[in-house]
Amino acid sequence: MKQVFLGIVFCIMAGIGSAQSKSNIDFETYNPPSSLVVPQHVVTKAKFPFIDIHNHQGNLSPQTLTGLVKVMDTLNMAVMINLSGSNGDRLKQSVENIKATAPKRFVVFANINFEGVGESTWTQKAVKQLEEDVKNGASGLKIFKTLGISVKDNEGKRVAVDDERLNDIWKKCSDLKIPVLIHTADPKQFWEPMDNNNERWLELVTRPGRKRSNTDPAPWQQLISEQHRLFKKHPNTTFINAHFGWYASDLEKLSKLMDEMKNVYVEFGAVIAELGRQPGAANKFFTRYQDRILFGKDSWVPDEYTTYFRVLETKDEYFPYHKKYHAFWAMYGMGLSDEILKKVYYKNALRLLPSIDKSLFP
Ligand SMILES: [Zn+2]
Repeated sequence: MKQVFLGIVFCIMAGIGSAQSKSNIDFETYNPPSSLVVPQHVVTKAKFPFIDIHNHQGNLSPQTLTGLVKVMDTLNMAVMINLSGSNGDRLKQSVENIKATAPKRFVVFANINFEGVGESTWTQKAVKQLEEDVKNGASGLKIFKTLGISVKDNEGKRVAVDDERLNDIWKKCSDLKIPVLIHTADPKQFWEPMDNNNERWLELVTRPGRKRSNTDPAPWQQLISEQHRLFKKHPNTTFINAHFGWYASDLEKLSKLMDEMKNVYVEFGAVIAELGRQPGAANKFFTRYQDRILFGKDSWVPDEYTTYFRVLETKDEYFPYHKKYHAFWAMYGMGLSDEILKKVYYKNALRLLPSIDKSLFP
């Protein structure tokens, strides 16, 4: 009896202290503050003015543009590339708004309307539309991941990334001397089982729509191979492979690809967490490919840019990343030299987008 009583008292005491002592905490809430004491260099403004090659803005009204410029100035973002430029009248209107409001600060890329691929006049029409969009002020072409995943032809078949019916579009980009920024597939983990071996488990749990399989729509490697064939078939077209081509966690493999395909640039939108966990290997990669890496961020969350600046510019150790579903690990800075930083922040982009005013940069 006495033992049972003591047991109950113990349980009550353990219960009182449950906020402090848990034997089982779920992964999402476990986030202990680091006890590591090391020098901290939080960077909220980039060291040099930069061009964000991977941004999406749904609306470029004069009011939106004015608001964006204010925030861009706090980050030292000289130029924002809006990849969601659409085409036709919508693109034209955006360019007009930019010219009237902040002509030096924004660039738009056009998008292809893939409806009707396979119809006899589709390719011709798409090429003509692209020509017109460039005449109206588009500086590049953005291909969304829908190509290869959800774009279907007029017979309901998946259109491969290297589908021949798109060849004339890539040739036209080469003739017009505009780069093609292309996003293909998604992180490989989206194709893998959602279990405790999956590094993107939390993302798949919180964003279930991102789960893919070998039949939805095709194996990851197949999509990636289609993209690489596209790059090789069009050596005169400049491609910017978005998100480091999903090889940021295997820079040795990416190096081989970069060596094979000299017409390909990469940008690190949404994958800085991969670079920030391998500062040594990443620094080596940035040193070797310093002329073919561009600054990209993707989602427009101004507070998150600090992680990018800090990984690129500092040699800080073990600092937090901003989104647990991308990375449950901490970041380390690469400490890039000023020379490489300038190339990544603006010099490489200026070469691909010569219409940008160079006087905005040192
Ligand atoms: Zn994007």
